[in-house]
Amino acid sequence: MQLKILLVSAEVHPFAKTGGLADVSGALPPALKKLGHDIRVIMPKYPCTAKAGRKIQSLRIDLKLPGFSQKGSLFKSELSGGIPVYLIKHDGYFKRKYIYGKPGTDYPDSVERFAFFSQAVLEAIKNLDFKPDIIHCNDWHTGLIPVYLKSLYRKDPWFSHTKTLFSIHNLGYQGNFPHSHLKKTGLGESLFREDGIEFYGQISFLKGGLMFADTLSTVSPAYSQEIQTAELGFGMEGILQKRSSRLYGILNGVDYSVWNPKIDPLIAANYGPKSLSQKKHCRDDLIKTFSLRLNKKTPILCMITRLSEQKGIDLIMEAKDALDEQDISLLILGTGSAQYESFFKQWSRDRPDRIATVLKFDESLGHRILAGSDMLLMPSRYEPCGLTQMYALKYGTVPVVRAVGGLKNSVQEFSPETGKGTGFKFKTPQAKFFLKSLQKALSCFDQSKTWKKLMLNGMAKDNSWESAAKQYLRLYRKSP
Ligand code: ADP
Repeated sequence: MQLKILLVSAEVHPFAKTGGLADVSGALPPALKKLGHDIRVIMPKYPCTAKAGRKIQSLRIDLKLPGFSQKGSLFKSELSGGIPVYLIKHDGYFKRKYIYGKPGTDYPDSVERFAFFSQAVLEAIKNLDFKPDIIHCNDWHTGLIPVYLKSLYRKDPWFSHTKTLFSIHNLGYQGNFPHSHLKKTGLGESLFREDGIEFYGQISFLKGGLMFADTLSTVSPAYSQEIQTAELGFGMEGILQKRSSRLYGILNGVDYSVWNPKIDPLIAANYGPKSLSQKKHCRDDLIKTFSLRLNKKTPILCMITRLSEQKGIDLIMEAKDALDEQDISLLILGTGSAQYESFFKQWSRDRPDRIATVLKFDESLGHRILAGSDMLLMPSRYEPCGLTQMYALKYGTVPVVRAVGGLKNSVQEFSPETGKGTGFKFKTPQAKFFLKSLQKALSCFDQSKTWKKLMLNGMAKDNSWESAAKQYLRLYRKSP
């Protein structure tokens, strides 16, 4: 039976992106459509949505919301394959430079912004005459949707057959706000209780999703277990343990129409497993762009990442002196916390021939760095899935990662003896273990035959969305 699915997300590639959530929201829908389902997407209309190069039209529909005096309106665009992407317009809330706020911060009116968005989604569905079997919500910005459906909209016949799946892309971002903000959501005081949306005296959008959605998922099998522990549960572990029979882990896929060195238009030269030698042009591109001075055999290491604590940047900082002693080059593309930004900036100032830092979000440079580098470093403290390491595999750029979350599921430790495996992993989040793992990688890099085998192993991995989409369908159907 064909399912009617609405995917709701605060960011969807190519319309708006700050991280992996956008990649998933842009790539899962085409995979679901290929499997024959009616999938539509809905997100806010930001200024950056116009830069996606897709036609955007007004549907001339005003959205009046029960909990808000202000109105929104509805626009429409498309993802590839003709998938409708509905855009909720409210200039007061969404016509801003950043999606959430300056990197690392949230706008002070985030409650209103995303409560408004969540209610507008439900009103948009009715206006569009679309009765979804499933509303697939993603991260805290959409956490109130399941709550509204089971409170304000409980008796609304339009939604009598609609189930919800709430996907956790990162439990570290919870949308917790002072209790006094509750009235801005349009929800009653009665929901401010332990088995409601109260969380240590605050209201929590994320907890709303976790408590009220019919089914829960997260973006890797390992993370679905880790979030049930005190170490990585961010205080939500008790709730997740209670709901564990309805919590599933599905590893994200990769959109190989965007991330494939054979066809990538953004990189200096295209290459694949049979034309691996062409990768050197991508390396030369980086050497030239960043004015690096390398030996012929100096490996280029890279990080393309949000510069947040989650990403284990402190391990790199601690390892700096040891890294300085190696014959390596390191490129960092990232934005985030000021202390990390200034650390990398200073490092590249001290060693301009070997270290380069670009403190901005630059999609196209991300592709070039991934293609031209030899290794990708991801020493994350936690990693729900992580996409960059899966992209790196496809580009023959060997991941050196911490064995946590999706990194654990998507990278297999390489053994030079058997020739099996795709990268290097360390368990304990300490600089000395990271360095040990990197050392193994560097020794393999010295043996070009072994290294080639390792690159080819990674490039042969198939992490396409098809398998993940099939697993999501099973979940949509499993919703009680
Ligand atoms: P997260 O979602 O935690 O940020 P992921 O690895 O799942 O991490 O996804 C990050 C995505 O954002 C990848 O597509 C990565 O290449 C991209 N990315 C992160 N920082 C930058 C940046 N500064 N410039 C370009 N792309 C970036």
